Amino acid sequence: MAHQSVFRWRYDRPLSLEQFQLRFPDDYACAAYLAKKRWPDGFVCPHCGSTKGWKLRSKPWVWECGGEQADEDGELTPCRKQTSVIAGTIMHKTHLPLRQWFLAAHLVTTHSNGISALQLQAKLGIGSYKTAWLLLHKLRRAMVNPDREKLGGYEETVEIDETSIPFRTKDEPVGGGQGRSPIGKLNIIGAVEWRDEGRSGRIRLEPIRTNGRESLHPFVLRNTNPHTTIFTDGNQAYQGIPDRNHASKVVGKLPAHLWFKRIHRVFSLMKRWMMGVYHGVRRRHLNIYLQEFVFRWNRRRQYRAAFDSLVAIGNEVGHASLRDIVGRPPVLKTLMDQVRDGIELDRRQAYLEAIAKGVPSVFAERLLDPDYVAPEPRVYRRNVPPRPILAKSRSAFVYATH
Ligand SMILES: [Zn+2]
Repeated sequence: MAHQSVFRWRYDRPLSLEQFQLRFPDDYACAAYLAKKRWPDGFVCPHCGSTKGWKLRSKPWVWECGGEQADEDGELTPCRKQTSVIAGTIMHKTHLPLRQWFLAAHLVTTHSNGISALQLQAKLGIGSYKTAWLLLHKLRRAMVNPDREKLGGYEETVEIDETSIPFRTKDEPVGGGQGRSPIGKLNIIGAVEWRDEGRSGRIRLEPIRTNGRESLHPFVLRNTNPHTTIFTDGNQAYQGIPDRNHASKVVGKLPAHLWFKRIHRVFSLMKRWMMGVYHGVRRRHLNIYLQEFVFRWNRRRQYRAAFDSLVAIGNEVGHASLRDIVGRPPVLKTLMDQVRDGIELDRRQAYLEAIAKGVPSVFAERLLDPDYVAPEPRVYRRNVPPRPILAKSRSAFVYATH
C-alpha cells in the first residue's frame, strides 16, 4: 500500500521484528530488562537496602531479598521480602505474559502511525478483542509523562495557534458543519517549538472549549516555560499572559498557514493521521488520541525512549483497571436496577443512597418518580469502519462487477 508514514525514525533505528524476538525471547528476558532499568547497578531491596537477592524461578518478574537484618540482640533475621519489577508500571497486576506487553509496546512504537486494537489482537494472537483494546489503552496512558518538560524557555520561541476537526457522533461516520461553522467540530490548541532553519521541535496539543482567555492562558502556562516568546496570530485573547513575551502577527486576509508554517504543518499531519488511523474521533476519546500524536511526534527520532516510556519505566503511571479507563457504571442506573428488582432497595432508600454517593439532588430525585426509567448504560462498541463513500446504487454496481 502506498501509504506515506507521518512518523519516521531518524537516529535511533528500532529493532526489526526478528531482532526483537532474539532480544526478548521469553518473559525472563523481559523481566531482566525491567530489572536492569529499575536497578542499573544490581538488585537493591526497597525494604532493607540489601543488595543480595534472587529472582523467583516460577515468577521471573519477582525478586526475593536475601538480606539479613540484625535486631537489638544482634540476632539476624532474614528479610525475604518480595519485590516485583512490574510494580508501579502499567503492567502491574497483569494476567498477560510480559512478552505480550513488550511485543505490544514494540508494535505500537514501530508501527508507522499506530495500530488498532483489532490489528493488535491479531498480531499478538490474543483471544478477546476487549483484552487487546484494554492493553492498547493502558499503553496510551503511558504516553503522557506526568513530569514532562515544558516547551521553550529563555530566548526561545513557541508558535501557538488553534484549529478544529469534525467529530463523529455515536452513529455517524464523520459529522461536522461546512466550512467555518463550529457545529460538530472540536476545537484544538497546539504549540510547537521553533528550531533553526524553519524546523520544528517538540509539540503539545490539547482540546479547548473556547478561543478565549479562559482556555488559552491556562494552556500556555501549563505547557511553556517562563520567559518564552509566544508567537501567535492577532487573537487578542493571547495578550497579557504573565511571565511570557508575546509576539503576534495579524494575518488579515492572508492564509494563516503562510505565517504559521510550523504549527499548521503539525495540525495538517495530526488531522491526516486521525482520519487515516482512526477514521475520525469521538469527542470523549479526542484527548487521548491527541496525546498519542504528541507522543509519536516528540519521540519520532528515539525508538528506545519511546519503547521505555511505554513499558512505563520512565513514567510509573501505575495500574489502571478497566473501570478507570471506561468509567464507572452510572450510580443512578445501578440503584434504579435495584429498585426495579424490588429486592434490595425501595425508592426512598435509593434516593438517600444516591445523595450519599454524591449524586446531585436534582438527578437523585428522579429515583422517587414512579415513572422514571433509568437510562441505558453506555454500550461499548468496537471501531466500525467508516461507511463507503459511494452511494448505495453505485456500490452495488461495483460489487456486481467483481
Ligand atoms: Zn530486604
